[in-house]
Amino acid sequence: MKQLLVILWLFLVFVNIASSQSSGKLHQKAILADTHNDVLSSSVLEGKDISHRLTTGHSDLDRWKEGGVDVQFFSVWTDKTPRNKEGFFKDANQEIDSLDAIVNRNPQRIILAKDYKEVKEGIRGKKLVALIGVEGGHMIEDDLHKLEELYKRGMRYMTLTWNNSTSWASSAMDETASSKSPLPGETLRDSLKKKGLTAFGKQVVQKMNELGVIVDLSHTGEQTFYDAIATVTKPVLLSHSSVWNICPVFRNVKDDQIRAVAKNGGVICINFYSGFISKEYDQRSTYLNGPGGRIIQDSLFAVSHDSATMKAQWTKYLNTELNKVRPTLAQLADHIDYIVKLVGDDYVGIGSDYDGVGSLPVGLEDVTTYPKITGELVRRGYSKKSIKKILGGNVMRVMKANFK
Ligand SMILES: [Zn+2]
Repeated sequence: MKQLLVILWLFLVFVNIASSQSSGKLHQKAILADTHNDVLSSSVLEGKDISHRLTTGHSDLDRWKEGGVDVQFFSVWTDKTPRNKEGFFKDANQEIDSLDAIVNRNPQRIILAKDYKEVKEGIRGKKLVALIGVEGGHMIEDDLHKLEELYKRGMRYMTLTWNNSTSWASSAMDETASSKSPLPGETLRDSLKKKGLTAFGKQVVQKMNELGVIVDLSHTGEQTFYDAIATVTKPVLLSHSSVWNICPVFRNVKDDQIRAVAKNGGVICINFYSGFISKEYDQRSTYLNGPGGRIIQDSLFAVSHDSATMKAQWTKYLNTELNKVRPTLAQLADHIDYIVKLVGDDYVGIGSDYDGVGSLPVGLEDVTTYPKITGELVRRGYSKKSIKKILGGNVMRVMKANFK
Protein backbone atom coordinates (compact mmCIF):
# COMPACT_ATOMS: atom_id res chain seq x y z
CA MET A 1 0.00 0.00 0.00
CA LYS A 2 2.79 2.37 1.02
CA GLN A 3 4.69 1.57 -2.21
CA LEU A 4 1.59 2.27 -4.27
CA LEU A 5 1.21 5.68 -2.64
CA VAL A 6 4.86 6.52 -3.37
CA ILE A 7 4.41 5.54 -7.02
CA LEU A 8 1.26 7.61 -7.25
CA TRP A 9 3.01 10.59 -5.64
CA LEU A 10 5.98 10.28 -8.06
CA PHE A 11 3.55 10.10 -10.98
CA LEU A 12 1.78 13.29 -9.87
CA VAL A 13 5.10 15.11 -9.41
CA PHE A 14 6.13 14.00 -12.91
CA VAL A 15 2.83 15.15 -14.46
CA ASN A 16 3.17 18.52 -12.71
CA ILE A 17 6.76 19.07 -13.91
CA ALA A 18 5.91 17.96 -17.45
CA SER A 19 2.93 20.31 -17.65
CA SER A 20 4.81 23.31 -16.25
CA GLN A 21 7.67 22.62 -18.72
CA SER A 22 5.26 22.45 -21.63
CA SER A 23 3.44 25.62 -20.52
CA GLY A 24 6.84 27.35 -20.20
CA LYS A 25 7.72 26.29 -23.74
CA LEU A 26 4.36 27.45 -25.03
CA HIS A 27 4.83 30.78 -23.26
CA GLN A 28 8.22 31.33 -24.90
CA LYS A 29 6.88 30.39 -28.34
CA ALA A 30 3.73 32.51 -28.14
CA ILE A 31 3.74 36.22 -28.93
CA LEU A 32 2.94 38.08 -25.72
CA ALA A 33 1.50 41.54 -26.33
CA ASP A 34 0.55 43.74 -23.38
CA THR A 35 -1.45 46.79 -24.38
CA HIS A 36 -0.98 48.97 -21.31
CA ASN A 37 1.97 49.89 -19.10
CA ASP A 38 2.47 53.20 -17.26
CA VAL A 39 6.20 53.05 -16.56
CA LEU A 40 6.89 56.22 -18.59
CA SER A 41 4.80 58.47 -16.37
CA SER A 42 5.43 56.59 -13.12
CA SER A 43 9.22 56.13 -13.20
CA VAL A 44 10.97 57.26 -16.37
CA LEU A 45 9.89 60.90 -16.02
CA GLU A 46 11.21 60.77 -12.46
CA GLY A 47 14.62 59.89 -13.85
CA LYS A 48 14.63 56.12 -13.31
CA ASP A 49 16.52 54.16 -15.97
CA ILE A 50 14.61 51.05 -17.03
CA SER A 51 17.63 49.80 -19.02
CA HIS A 52 18.75 48.20 -15.75
CA ARG A 53 16.95 45.96 -13.35
CA LEU A 54 15.13 48.08 -10.79
CA THR A 55 14.15 47.05 -7.29
CA THR A 56 11.13 49.32 -7.37
CA GLY A 57 8.16 49.46 -9.75
CA HIS A 58 6.88 46.66 -11.93
CA SER A 59 8.82 46.92 -15.19
CA ASP A 60 12.25 47.25 -16.82
CA LEU A 61 13.97 45.76 -19.86
CA ASP A 62 15.51 42.84 -17.93
CA ARG A 63 12.22 41.87 -16.34
CA TRP A 64 10.22 42.15 -19.60
CA LYS A 65 12.67 39.66 -21.11
CA GLU A 66 12.23 37.31 -18.18
CA GLY A 67 8.45 37.52 -18.51
CA GLY A 68 8.63 36.56 -22.19
CA VAL A 69 7.08 39.84 -23.37
CA ASP A 70 7.35 40.54 -27.10
CA VAL A 71 5.18 43.61 -27.62
CA GLN A 72 4.55 46.40 -25.13
CA PHE A 73 2.35 49.44 -25.60
CA PHE A 74 3.78 52.29 -23.49
CA SER A 75 1.08 54.53 -22.14
CA VAL A 76 1.64 58.26 -22.61
CA TRP A 77 -0.49 59.67 -19.84
CA THR A 78 -0.95 62.97 -18.12
CA ASP A 79 -3.40 63.99 -15.44
CA LYS A 80 -6.38 66.29 -15.99
CA THR A 81 -4.15 69.21 -15.10
CA PRO A 82 -1.01 69.39 -17.26
CA ARG A 83 2.52 68.96 -15.92
CA ASN A 84 3.92 71.70 -18.17
CA LYS A 85 2.61 75.21 -18.29
CA GLU A 86 2.48 74.83 -22.11
CA GLY A 87 -0.21 72.17 -21.69
CA PHE A 88 -1.13 68.52 -22.36
CA PHE A 89 0.35 68.28 -25.85
CA LYS A 90 3.73 69.31 -24.48
CA ASP A 91 3.36 66.69 -21.70
CA ALA A 92 2.71 63.98 -24.29
CA ASN A 93 5.71 64.99 -26.39
CA GLN A 94 7.96 65.02 -23.35
CA GLU A 95 6.94 61.47 -22.48
CA ILE A 96 7.53 60.31 -26.03
CA ASP A 97 11.01 61.94 -25.83
CA SER A 98 11.70 59.83 -22.74
CA LEU A 99 10.72 56.63 -24.59
CA ASP A 100 12.87 57.62 -27.59
CA ALA A 101 15.80 58.09 -25.21
CA ILE A 102 15.40 54.55 -23.82
CA VAL A 103 15.18 53.10 -27.34
CA ASN A 104 18.27 55.06 -28.45
CA ARG A 105 20.29 53.84 -25.48
CA ASN A 106 19.28 50.19 -26.01
CA PRO A 107 19.07 49.56 -29.78
CA GLN A 108 19.86 45.87 -29.37
CA ARG A 109 17.06 45.28 -26.90
CA ILE A 110 14.12 47.50 -27.79
CA ILE A 111 12.67 48.96 -30.96
CA LEU A 112 9.92 51.55 -31.45
CA ALA A 113 7.56 50.15 -34.08
CA LYS A 114 5.41 52.35 -36.29
CA ASP A 115 3.88 49.77 -38.64
CA TYR A 116 2.93 46.09 -38.64
CA LYS A 117 6.05 45.06 -40.56
CA GLU A 118 8.27 46.65 -37.90
CA VAL A 119 6.31 44.86 -35.18
CA LYS A 120 6.95 41.49 -36.88
CA GLU A 121 10.63 42.30 -37.53
CA GLY A 122 11.17 43.32 -33.91
CA ILE A 123 9.62 40.07 -32.66
CA ARG A 124 11.76 38.03 -35.05
CA GLY A 125 14.85 39.95 -33.86
CA LYS A 126 13.92 39.02 -30.26
CA LYS A 127 13.69 42.66 -29.23
CA LEU A 128 11.01 44.20 -27.08
CA VAL A 129 8.68 45.88 -29.56
CA ALA A 130 7.59 49.20 -28.09
CA LEU A 131 4.50 51.01 -29.33
CA ILE A 132 2.97 54.26 -28.17
CA GLY A 133 -0.54 54.45 -26.75
CA VAL A 134 -1.74 57.93 -25.77
CA GLU A 135 -4.10 57.69 -22.80
CA GLY A 136 -6.64 60.49 -22.94
CA GLY A 137 -7.97 62.60 -25.80
CA HIS A 138 -7.20 65.74 -23.76
CA MET A 139 -3.62 65.42 -25.11
CA ILE A 140 -4.67 66.62 -28.58
CA GLU A 141 -6.14 69.82 -27.12
CA ASP A 142 -9.18 69.79 -29.45
CA ASP A 143 -6.92 70.04 -32.49
CA LEU A 144 -6.75 67.49 -35.33
CA HIS A 145 -3.29 68.80 -36.32
CA LYS A 146 -2.00 67.78 -32.90
CA LEU A 147 -3.53 64.33 -33.42
CA GLU A 148 -1.56 64.10 -36.64
CA GLU A 149 1.62 65.34 -34.93
CA LEU A 150 1.33 62.62 -32.27
CA TYR A 151 0.72 60.05 -35.00
CA LYS A 152 3.96 61.17 -36.69
CA ARG A 153 5.80 60.67 -33.41
CA GLY A 154 4.53 57.08 -33.22
CA MET A 155 1.15 57.13 -31.46
CA ARG A 156 -0.62 53.92 -32.54
CA TYR A 157 -3.57 53.96 -30.22
CA MET A 158 -5.35 56.75 -28.44
CA THR A 159 -7.73 56.20 -25.53
CA LEU A 160 -10.54 58.64 -26.30
CA THR A 161 -10.81 59.71 -22.67
CA TRP A 162 -9.00 59.06 -19.42
CA ASN A 163 -11.07 59.53 -16.22
CA ASN A 164 -11.66 63.12 -17.34
CA SER A 165 -14.01 63.88 -20.22
CA THR A 166 -12.91 66.05 -23.13
CA SER A 167 -15.10 68.68 -24.80
CA TRP A 168 -15.91 65.98 -27.41
CA ALA A 169 -16.15 62.68 -25.48
CA SER A 170 -17.51 61.72 -22.04
CA SER A 171 -15.59 59.41 -19.74
CA ALA A 172 -16.87 56.43 -17.73
CA MET A 173 -16.14 58.31 -14.52
CA ASP A 174 -18.18 61.37 -15.52
CA GLU A 175 -20.99 59.41 -17.18
CA THR A 176 -21.51 57.23 -14.10
CA ALA A 177 -21.17 60.17 -11.68
CA SER A 178 -23.78 62.16 -13.59
CA SER A 179 -26.29 59.29 -13.50
CA LYS A 180 -26.16 59.12 -9.70
CA SER A 181 -28.30 61.57 -7.81
CA PRO A 182 -26.10 64.05 -5.96
CA LEU A 183 -25.62 63.67 -2.21
CA PRO A 184 -26.69 66.55 0.03
CA GLY A 185 -24.28 69.41 -0.55
CA GLU A 186 -22.96 67.95 -3.79
CA THR A 187 -23.72 69.17 -7.28
CA LEU A 188 -23.52 67.24 -10.54
CA ARG A 189 -20.32 67.71 -12.46
CA ASP A 190 -20.97 70.55 -14.82
CA SER A 191 -18.06 69.41 -17.01
CA LEU A 192 -20.49 66.93 -18.52
CA LYS A 193 -22.92 68.84 -20.69
CA LYS A 194 -23.71 65.96 -23.01
CA LYS A 195 -22.91 62.24 -22.93
CA GLY A 196 -21.16 60.50 -25.83
CA LEU A 197 -19.24 61.79 -28.83
CA THR A 198 -19.92 65.21 -30.34
CA ALA A 199 -19.68 65.86 -34.10
CA PHE A 200 -16.02 66.83 -33.56
CA GLY A 201 -15.53 63.64 -31.53
CA LYS A 202 -16.71 61.63 -34.53
CA GLN A 203 -14.23 63.52 -36.71
CA VAL A 204 -11.44 62.57 -34.28
CA VAL A 205 -12.42 58.90 -34.51
CA GLN A 206 -12.60 59.04 -38.32
CA LYS A 207 -9.21 60.76 -38.52
CA MET A 208 -7.69 58.09 -36.26
CA ASN A 209 -8.98 55.31 -38.53
CA GLU A 210 -7.71 57.18 -41.58
CA LEU A 211 -4.21 57.58 -40.09
CA GLY A 212 -4.00 54.05 -38.69
CA VAL A 213 -4.31 54.88 -34.99
CA ILE A 214 -6.32 52.25 -33.07
CA VAL A 215 -9.40 53.64 -31.29
CA ASP A 216 -9.05 52.63 -27.63
CA LEU A 217 -12.31 52.61 -25.66
CA SER A 218 -11.01 51.84 -22.15
CA HIS A 219 -12.05 54.61 -19.72
CA THR A 220 -14.81 55.91 -22.02
CA GLY A 221 -18.39 56.14 -20.84
CA GLU A 222 -20.92 53.72 -22.29
CA GLN A 223 -22.47 56.38 -24.51
CA THR A 224 -19.06 57.33 -25.93
CA PHE A 225 -18.31 53.61 -26.37
CA TYR A 226 -21.47 53.01 -28.45
CA ASP A 227 -21.11 56.28 -30.42
CA ALA A 228 -17.51 55.39 -31.25
CA ILE A 229 -18.23 51.80 -32.20
CA ALA A 230 -20.95 53.07 -34.58
CA THR A 231 -18.43 55.47 -36.16
CA VAL A 232 -15.29 53.31 -36.58
CA THR A 233 -14.37 51.51 -39.78
CA LYS A 234 -11.68 49.38 -38.09
CA PRO A 235 -11.52 47.02 -35.09
CA VAL A 236 -11.34 48.75 -31.71
CA LEU A 237 -9.25 48.05 -28.63
CA LEU A 238 -9.98 48.24 -24.93
CA SER A 239 -6.40 48.49 -23.78
CA HIS A 240 -6.94 47.90 -20.05
CA SER A 241 -10.48 46.95 -18.96
CA SER A 242 -11.99 44.00 -17.12
CA VAL A 243 -15.43 42.40 -16.83
CA TRP A 244 -18.30 44.28 -15.14
CA ASN A 245 -20.38 41.19 -14.46
CA ILE A 246 -17.60 39.79 -12.22
CA CYS A 247 -16.51 43.09 -10.72
CA PRO A 248 -19.08 45.86 -11.22
CA VAL A 249 -16.92 49.00 -11.14
CA PHE A 250 -17.55 52.13 -13.16
CA ARG A 251 -15.21 51.38 -16.03
CA ASN A 252 -15.36 47.59 -16.43
CA VAL A 253 -17.24 46.38 -19.52
CA LYS A 254 -20.76 44.99 -19.58
CA ASP A 255 -21.95 41.97 -21.58
CA ASP A 256 -23.53 44.05 -24.37
CA GLN A 257 -20.27 45.98 -24.75
CA ILE A 258 -18.33 42.70 -24.97
CA ARG A 259 -20.74 41.48 -27.67
CA ALA A 260 -20.37 44.79 -29.55
CA VAL A 261 -16.55 44.48 -29.51
CA ALA A 262 -16.81 40.91 -30.83
CA LYS A 263 -19.12 42.06 -33.62
CA ASN A 264 -16.61 44.80 -34.51
CA GLY A 265 -13.69 42.30 -34.49
CA GLY A 266 -11.88 44.20 -31.72
CA VAL A 267 -10.20 43.02 -28.53
CA ILE A 268 -10.62 43.62 -24.79
CA CYS A 269 -7.36 43.41 -22.85
CA ILE A 270 -7.78 42.49 -19.20
CA ASN A 271 -6.60 44.99 -16.59
CA PHE A 272 -4.80 43.33 -13.64
CA TYR A 273 -5.70 45.95 -10.97
CA SER A 274 -7.02 44.14 -7.87
CA GLY A 275 -9.96 46.54 -7.61
CA PHE A 276 -11.06 45.77 -11.19
CA ILE A 277 -10.64 41.97 -10.77
CA SER A 278 -12.24 41.38 -7.37
CA LYS A 279 -15.52 42.83 -6.12
CA GLU A 280 -14.47 42.09 -2.54
CA TYR A 281 -11.23 44.07 -2.96
CA ASP A 282 -13.11 46.98 -4.56
CA GLN A 283 -15.68 47.11 -1.76
CA ARG A 284 -13.04 46.90 0.98
CA SER A 285 -10.91 49.56 -0.69
CA THR A 286 -13.88 51.89 -1.25
CA TYR A 287 -14.89 51.50 2.40
CA LEU A 288 -11.40 51.98 3.86
CA ASN A 289 -10.58 54.91 1.60
CA GLY A 290 -13.96 56.45 2.46
CA PRO A 291 -16.18 56.37 5.56
CA GLY A 292 -14.48 53.38 7.25
CA GLY A 293 -11.08 55.02 6.90
CA ARG A 294 -12.28 58.26 8.46
CA ILE A 295 -13.57 56.45 11.57
CA ILE A 296 -10.29 54.55 12.02
CA GLN A 297 -8.16 57.64 11.43
CA ASP A 298 -10.19 59.57 14.02
CA SER A 299 -9.58 56.87 16.60
CA LEU A 300 -5.84 56.77 15.77
CA PHE A 301 -5.69 60.53 16.18
CA ALA A 302 -7.34 60.27 19.59
CA VAL A 303 -4.35 58.17 20.77
CA SER A 304 -1.54 60.06 19.01
CA HIS A 305 -1.50 63.74 18.13
CA ASP A 306 1.64 63.36 16.05
CA SER A 307 0.27 63.49 12.50
CA ALA A 308 3.36 61.84 10.90
CA THR A 309 3.07 58.84 13.25
CA MET A 310 -0.64 58.64 12.68
CA LYS A 311 -0.21 58.75 8.90
CA ALA A 312 2.42 55.98 9.00
CA GLN A 313 0.21 53.81 11.21
CA TRP A 314 -2.76 54.39 8.97
CA THR A 315 -0.85 53.50 5.78
CA LYS A 316 0.44 50.31 7.39
CA TYR A 317 -3.03 49.34 8.53
CA LEU A 318 -4.58 50.10 5.13
CA ASN A 319 -1.96 48.05 3.27
CA THR A 320 -2.31 45.10 5.64
CA GLU A 321 -6.10 45.12 5.37
CA LEU A 322 -6.13 45.41 1.58
CA ASN A 323 -3.44 42.75 1.21
CA LYS A 324 -5.78 40.29 2.91
CA VAL A 325 -8.33 40.63 0.08
CA ARG A 326 -6.00 40.74 -2.95
CA PRO A 327 -7.42 38.50 -5.68
CA THR A 328 -5.77 35.30 -6.88
CA LEU A 329 -4.35 34.45 -10.30
CA ALA A 330 -7.41 32.22 -10.79
CA GLN A 331 -9.72 35.20 -10.24
CA LEU A 332 -7.89 37.07 -13.00
CA ALA A 333 -8.21 34.07 -15.31
CA ASP A 334 -11.96 34.08 -14.56
CA HIS A 335 -12.21 37.39 -16.46
CA ILE A 336 -10.55 35.79 -19.51
CA ASP A 337 -12.83 32.75 -19.19
CA TYR A 338 -15.90 34.97 -18.99
CA ILE A 339 -15.20 36.72 -22.29
CA VAL A 340 -14.24 33.44 -24.00
CA LYS A 341 -17.48 31.80 -22.85
CA LEU A 342 -19.59 34.79 -23.91
CA VAL A 343 -18.15 35.49 -27.37
CA GLY A 344 -15.26 33.11 -28.09
CA ASP A 345 -11.46 33.26 -27.83
CA ASP A 346 -10.84 35.92 -30.53
CA TYR A 347 -11.67 38.99 -28.50
CA VAL A 348 -9.63 38.90 -25.29
CA GLY A 349 -6.04 39.86 -24.50
CA ILE A 350 -3.66 41.19 -21.84
CA GLY A 351 -3.58 44.86 -20.76
CA SER A 352 -1.93 44.65 -17.34
CA ASP A 353 -1.67 48.34 -16.32
CA TYR A 354 1.66 47.50 -14.64
CA ASP A 355 3.23 50.58 -13.06
CA GLY A 356 -0.13 52.28 -13.17
CA VAL A 357 -1.83 50.44 -10.30
CA GLY A 358 -1.21 50.12 -6.57
CA SER A 359 -2.33 46.53 -6.09
CA LEU A 360 -2.05 43.35 -8.17
CA PRO A 361 -3.31 39.78 -7.79
CA VAL A 362 -1.15 37.50 -5.62
CA GLY A 363 1.67 36.06 -7.75
CA LEU A 364 1.45 38.70 -10.48
CA GLU A 365 3.63 41.28 -8.77
CA ASP A 366 5.64 42.41 -11.81
CA VAL A 367 6.27 41.82 -15.53
CA THR A 368 8.26 38.63 -14.89
CA THR A 369 5.08 36.80 -13.87
CA TYR A 370 3.14 36.47 -17.15
CA PRO A 371 4.17 32.77 -17.53
CA LYS A 372 1.88 32.03 -14.58
CA ILE A 373 -1.10 33.16 -16.64
CA THR A 374 -0.13 30.77 -19.42
CA GLY A 375 0.23 28.02 -16.80
CA GLU A 376 -3.24 28.78 -15.43
CA LEU A 377 -4.81 28.69 -18.91
CA VAL A 378 -3.10 25.33 -19.60
CA ARG A 379 -4.40 24.04 -16.26
CA ARG A 380 -7.92 25.10 -17.29
CA GLY A 381 -7.69 23.04 -20.46
CA TYR A 382 -7.27 25.83 -23.02
CA SER A 383 -5.78 24.66 -26.32
CA LYS A 384 -2.39 25.97 -27.48
CA LYS A 385 -4.13 27.80 -30.30
CA SER A 386 -6.48 29.57 -27.90
CA ILE A 387 -3.68 30.53 -25.51
CA LYS A 388 -1.64 32.03 -28.35
CA LYS A 389 -4.60 34.18 -29.38
CA ILE A 390 -5.19 35.39 -25.81
CA LEU A 391 -1.53 36.16 -25.06
CA GLY A 392 -1.05 38.26 -28.18
CA GLY A 393 -2.54 36.84 -31.35
CA ASN A 394 -5.75 38.83 -31.02
CA VAL A 395 -3.89 42.09 -30.44
CA MET A 396 -1.67 41.32 -33.46
CA ARG A 397 -4.81 40.90 -35.58
CA VAL A 398 -6.21 44.26 -34.44
CA MET A 399 -2.86 46.00 -35.10
CA LYS A 400 -2.67 44.50 -38.57
CA ALA A 401 -6.20 45.64 -39.39
CA ASN A 402 -5.51 49.20 -38.21
CA PHE A 403 -1.92 50.01 -39.11
CA LYS A 404 -0.96 51.17 -42.58
ZN1 LIG B 1 -5.90 53.95 -17.38
